[in-house]
Amino acid sequence: MDVKKKDIRALTKDQLRVFFRENGDKPFRGNQVYEWLWSKGAHSFDDMTNISKVTRQMLEENFVINHIRVDQMQRSTDGTIKNAVRLHDGLIVESVLIPTPTRTTACVSSQVGCSLDCKFCATARLKRMRNLNADEIYDQVMAIDKESKLYHNRPLSNIVFMGMGEPLMNYNNVIKAIDKITSTEGLGMSPKRITLSTSGVPKMIKKMADDEVKFKLAVSLHSAIDDVRTSIMPFNQTFPLSDLQESLEYWYKKTNSRITYEYVVWNGINDRQEDIDALVRFCSYVPCKVNLIEYNPIDDDEFQQASTKAIDNYITTLEARRIVVNVRRSRGKDIDAACGQLANKS
Ligand code: SAH
Repeated sequence: MDVKKKDIRALTKDQLRVFFRENGDKPFRGNQVYEWLWSKGAHSFDDMTNISKVTRQMLEENFVINHIRVDQMQRSTDGTIKNAVRLHDGLIVESVLIPTPTRTTACVSSQVGCSLDCKFCATARLKRMRNLNADEIYDQVMAIDKESKLYHNRPLSNIVFMGMGEPLMNYNNVIKAIDKITSTEGLGMSPKRITLSTSGVPKMIKKMADDEVKFKLAVSLHSAIDDVRTSIMPFNQTFPLSDLQESLEYWYKKTNSRITYEYVVWNGINDRQEDIDALVRFCSYVPCKVNLIEYNPIDDDEFQQASTKAIDNYITTLEARRIVVNVRRSRGKDIDAACGQLANKS
């Protein structure tokens, strides 16, 4: 990459219009180029067929397009697709397409590696290398939308920020990407179809509430007892459950939007009655539902999926308290595409 050249997608539409005006062209040219860059997903200036050759050359001399490249695509027997995505600097992240009879969901990454250290997650072992730019997040979504149309004959219907990374540690870029995805230049998707999943960064949950975001919030809870949660998600020491609770109450007051708690039940870790009781209590603070996620082993004996009996205990107790609970089966396990398995293995 030529270091002197600027990433053209860092420019807003207005900045592009100004660039063309200052270079003796019509500002309207900026709109055309912007459309190529965002709606049409151009990977090179040569793709821009309604722009003159001279202008394309001029752009080439001044700018680069740091588009992502899908380096490898794996398809699971259940229809799930995993993309290994190469970024302009050679780093790799993964994103996943999850088809069900009624929807196609893109699971996208927000960081290369992860800032957090959840003991049960494969991505945590990669450490955080850098945040993704807004366009790198946007590109993952567009690539999956294309695959969805190609392999499942329908556009993408939902997006979850449950790939690699902690989205609230890269808040500005995630928000910029969501703005673009929901705009008419992007997919024009309703923000209600987008879910941001966080391990729970209280300050940022409050910031989202203040910003009046319209997408949905999921929190990876896994335990409602501080000691237990800290032992499996060590950052809970810094952001204890009382702070998390307070931020979720704030979120609900401002947004009126129900929260989803993601929860894995492990043998000997959170399968006791007191773990269930603590979860029931935590669920009483704000309107919510619980997704019990199947554990996807990551070559570690420390964690084992709890017995069916333990999970049934959770379900019966929660339902008796009128708390909505869903059991989420994993998808794409044969290609390491399930929750917590994204680790650039191949
Ligand atoms: N950092 C964000 C988003 C990425 S993780 C977050 O923590 O929410 C996406 C989901 O997968 C989280 O709920 C996470 O707790 C869960 N997860 C991580 N490792 C897992 C594993 N091995 N098996 C099942 N779920 C896992």
